[in-house]
Amino acid sequence: MTHDSLTGLLNRGGFLAELQLCLAKRAGRKQRRGLLIVDLDFFRTVNVGLGIAAGDETLSIVAQRIRAAVHPSAVVARLSGVEFAVLADFADAGEAQSVAAELLEALSAPMAVGGTSIEITVSIGVSMASETDNPDRLVGRAAAALHQAKKRGRNRCEVECSMHSDPDDSQLNRRGELRRAIEDGELCLFFQPQIDLVSGQMNGFEALVRWDHPNKGLLAPSAFIDFAEESGLILPLGAWVINAAVAQQAAWHRSAAGRPPVRMSVNISAIQLSDPRLEEMVTEALERHGVAPGLLTLEITETALTADPVAALRTLEILKALGVRLAIDDFGTGHSSLTYLKRFPIDELKIDRSFIAGLTTDSKDHAIVASCIQLAHATNLIAVAEGVEMPAQLHALTELDCDLAQGYFYTRPMSAEDLEPWFIPRPDNMRLGEPQLVGQ
Ligand code: C2E
Ligand code: CA
Ligand code: CA
Repeated sequence: MTHDSLTGLLNRGGFLAELQLCLAKRAGRKQRRGLLIVDLDFFRTVNVGLGIAAGDETLSIVAQRIRAAVHPSAVVARLSGVEFAVLADFADAGEAQSVAAELLEALSAPMAVGGTSIEITVSIGVSMASETDNPDRLVGRAAAALHQAKKRGRNRCEVECSMHSDPDDSQLNRRGELRRAIEDGELCLFFQPQIDLVSGQMNGFEALVRWDHPNKGLLAPSAFIDFAEESGLILPLGAWVINAAVAQQAAWHRSAAGRPPVRMSVNISAIQLSDPRLEEMVTEALERHGVAPGLLTLEITETALTADPVAALRTLEILKALGVRLAIDDFGTGHSSLTYLKRFPIDELKIDRSFIAGLTTDSKDHAIVASCIQLAHATNLIAVAEGVEMPAQLHALTELDCDLAQGYFYTRPMSAEDLEPWFIPRPDNMRLGEPQLVGQ
């Protein structure tokens, strides 16, 4: 089967076969093949708000609009859930970018769906084929550009970075520098507590990586995680993080007899998720430090899970069999279908902080957070709110029966030694988050 039944477009398999053929043939003189990957932003709100049938209707309209907006000779496909591809000949990257801009406009026009009018936005990643390109590389670069477009706020297009700068010395230097940082111990972990909203007690921590750069000082992950992903160094970096986080759990257990075991959450990137050695690496870290698997939670972003849900499901099942816990991170920013939510062996749903930011000021955000919490509970998951900054947000979350919360309201991420006060149990009648306790 080479076509998608909903939209009639080529499906992923059909598209990759077509792409292989197109790359084997030379493009016309003065023309280059360009690939646009078009991904719908916040599509989940359509599925949750209007139902699956309306979601399908939206996808059909998107498919028609893409087809109508591009040259008749362009190959158009639906790669996965809400990801579409356009392969066409362009004079240069600039022309591909203009077509992407037209698509952004065509797709943002209101659509009549399920008896109402809705507006959606998309993010687009563009890559331009070289004479020696293969399908994997071309798709990989467009996917990396799409990732940038999402990171930079969505509803925009990004062209692969190699269009702007060749993989020159500075790129190589950067790679060498990050590799040394991983090997020479320049990385460190900060931890942010997660609070149980019923008991008011600290429930565990999320480990967040930092780079203590010799010249630039302490760097946040935004300064290097993308580069680590593009350069492949995310695998050794991710392995370092898991080992260091589990080592810290073990150190906390050792340092105070009788202290209850500490739960730890660690972020796993999409690339780690498709690494066949992930299972072995997690097992080794737990065994090396003698930590029970149930005390470790792996956080995987919704976008990483939905990029290839079938492969993700396989990996999650393998990880789940180890006994570790699994969380969907940044929930609401990707496009999980309810079917996958039901099938993924997930324990926690972490509601993206963009929705918590508007929880008390925007009725739509309030409705989204409320439905995420209900959805979590209906499917036996723990609901976690991240990015809680204000007392009003905490109160709203308590009223909505959210289970756990983390955010600057309690504390910013801190080093292990600064976290010692968080191990002192709070008196039962004093919930963490009451104003007099903030800042401890
Ligand atoms: P994330 O997984 O969503 O992590 C939470 C981020 O939210 C952290 O940023 C944290 O400092 C920030 N945050 C916490 N509370 C608040 C709040 O109340 N308000 C606001 N505005 N922000 C808050 P950080 O440490 O800069 O990490 C950013 C992202 O980098 C993380 O987002 C995660 O996606 C990634 N990251 C961090 N550590 C790792 C890692 O070890 N491996 C991988 N693959 N990614 C990591
Ligand atoms: Ca996280
Ligand atoms: Ca998150």
